[in-house]
Amino acid sequence: MADTDPRRRIPRTDHLLALPEVITAGERLSQSTIRAIIFEAQAAARAGEIPAAEVAPTVIEHLSSRSVSSLTPVLNATGIIVHTNLGRAPLSASARRAVADATGYVDVEMDLDSGKRSKRGTGAKRALLRACPGAEDVLVVNNGAAALLLAVTALRGDEATGNDGSAGAIDAKVAGEIIVSRGELIEIGAGFRLPDLMTTTGSRIREVGMTNRTHLDDYARAINNQTASLLKVHTSNFRVEGFTASVEIAALRELADEHELPLIADLGSGLFEPDPYLPDEPDIAGALAAGADVVIVSGDKLLGGPQAGLILGRSDAVQRIATHPLARAMRTDKLTLAAIEATVANTENPVRQALHIDVDRLRKRAERLASLVSGTVVAHDGRVGGGGAPGVPLPGWAVELPEELARPLRLGDPAVVARVHQGRCLIDLRCVPEVDDDRIGEAVNRARANTRSRLGDDGVGSSDDPDFTNHA
Ligand SMILES: *Cc1c(COP(=O)(O)O)cnc(C)c1O
Repeated sequence: MADTDPRRRIPRTDHLLALPEVITAGERLSQSTIRAIIFEAQAAARAGEIPAAEVAPTVIEHLSSRSVSSLTPVLNATGIIVHTNLGRAPLSASARRAVADATGYVDVEMDLDSGKRSKRGTGAKRALLRACPGAEDVLVVNNGAAALLLAVTALRGDEATGNDGSAGAIDAKVAGEIIVSRGELIEIGAGFRLPDLMTTTGSRIREVGMTNRTHLDDYARAINNQTASLLKVHTSNFRVEGFTASVEIAALRELADEHELPLIADLGSGLFEPDPYLPDEPDIAGALAAGADVVIVSGDKLLGGPQAGLILGRSDAVQRIATHPLARAMRTDKLTLAAIEATVANTENPVRQALHIDVDRLRKRAERLASLVSGTVVAHDGRVGGGGAPGVPLPGWAVELPEELARPLRLGDPAVVARVHQGRCLIDLRCVPEVDDDRIGEAVNRARANTRSRLGDDGVGSSDDPDFTNHA
């Protein structure tokens, strides 16, 4: 009798571990993960949930679908291009390849010709200076926040940095008071505030002007012998409208020259040149031409690259920043340097494509998807999102679906993140590679079938539309 018990035919662990597919999976997954998957399948067979003959195929299937990390790739159907909750910029194909190539040993700090140590990240630096001829030098650090902290700390000049004091406009000042407009003291997201960040290294903030209006004279009156720098911050995640005034970089340059102060411009996002789609978004070339000693931008916003902070500008200022002791704690890794270089060398990337998308084409794709999933095409504005072009609508189209589909879509495979807005689930294909349109259609139909089969279950997604613009 025992011999006919199908459970006796459940494959043994050592047999499963010896399968070629399982051995191959060992290159990606840990042995404990593999064993856990094996035990799970054996337990399912023992419980009669799957036949014994299905144990090996089940193990192989689970191993191949198991992601190496807990991060789940998602299709971004929100229409928000730089979506901080979804990792900001998706890398271009060439940047992904560059990252993959840099994962092993690479000559990040070695000259292969001489075999001697070389400067770190020269390739990324060369590519950046080529893309931005107005900059004499550039430093890449961990992110925009690190770049800002480092720049205001290093340029306040009260630390021994080995500088010979001949740096002209960025000569050492006795203490560190950073003059910044009250209207530019921003919170960048998740409760992080730029003024708090800048004061962590002992600098003080001197707020000038009013929330809505700041004039050149406000800056001029605040300058004293404690002043370390003038800081201009792009209000990248909100807009003040109405009775407003702010001071342009060119006017601040004159004031900075008069008092021999460094002028730092934190642009937040990273356009190298003006973009006709985003007329109010500052660009690096323009800020440098207007006279900023250094500009600061993030790598993973409109630049379309990896998380990084770029400091571009006059070589004396950049060198002073690069040699500050804090710089070592904010150093970028080789993967980031590889991705930056590839991103900057090729102007096309998913962020630019989503921004400049052909709206007629987008509509056709939406219509096709709507017919696949019995949805309705509606006009829908996309957004830049995460710290760029606040409030600027990017006209386009979306497929409207019932709100209760949003959650099963997020939890499906592929995971699809739609926009939940005013009781609707909106699928905007702007940030979805066109090759994935059909996968979205199938995902919607699967989500629908599952929702229907679970009648009575509260399949309603949380109303997860956190203010649509606040993704910095
Ligand atoms: C986004 C942003 C930052 C912070 O940059 P991270 O790369 O996110 O660290 C700083 N300043 C401004 C104006 C920003 O928009």
